[in-house]
Amino acid sequence: MADVARRSLVIAIDGPAGAGKSAVSKRLTSALGYRLLDTGALYRSVALLAQRRSVEWTDETGLAELAGALEVNFRFDGDVNRIEIFGEDVTEGIRKPEISTGASVVSSLPMVRQALLDLQRNLGKSGGVVVEGRDVGTVVFPAAEAKFYLTASDQVRAQRRYDELRANGEEVGFESTLSEMRERDERDSQRAVAPLVQAEDAILVDSSNRSLDEVVEEMLRHVRSREVALA
Ligand code: C5P
Repeated sequence: MADVARRSLVIAIDGPAGAGKSAVSKRLTSALGYRLLDTGALYRSVALLAQRRSVEWTDETGLAELAGALEVNFRFDGDVNRIEIFGEDVTEGIRKPEISTGASVVSSLPMVRQALLDLQRNLGKSGGVVVEGRDVGTVVFPAAEAKFYLTASDQVRAQRRYDELRANGEEVGFESTLSEMRERDERDSQRAVAPLVQAEDAILVDSSNRSLDEVVEEMLRHVRSREVALA
């Protein structure tokens, strides 16, 4: 079969916590030979740095300074998308429940969002990249060639998050995981700047009752047709 011309795209995947964005993004990245940009990891890194340097999660100027100076590197180690800040691997450290809450708090501050905007655009500008987050298709890459809004029911999302935390040895309960997740969703959806919302031109994908394989297949079909159509 003759080779078909394809273009390398920016693929934007937004949605609430536990919708399956990370798992889906990883699978798409490896199927397409793209890079992966996990934007939530950047907000988490700012929250972690702030905690270490005793900068309050409400100190907008101090946090924006940390965000503006952030040096970050992503690299795949097998199936794990590892993140280094200033050369230190913080992959596990940024997944702690208190950092999830901190990330959601610091991400509501406009100066912090602004400080991370250029960094995200630089990391994704050459295309051939899957970018996952909350405002990727609406704010960071509004011209992304393929956009998805991935979601699932509250119960399903909380169960996934709970299983993940338990697998990492965190002593959490299901009810507290569910209520923290709802609080985070509420904050992410209600904030004044770049709230979590489905972009008008994003495809809605509900992963509640579907396997990862089915979801990835549907998304891949769409991406591949865009790669060819836009070549
Ligand atoms: O995706 P993840 O759960 O790692 O994101 C952590 C937090 O970072 C989210 O709850 C959200 O508040 C914030 N975030 C954001 N915009 C993004 C990605 C994440 O506000 N593009």
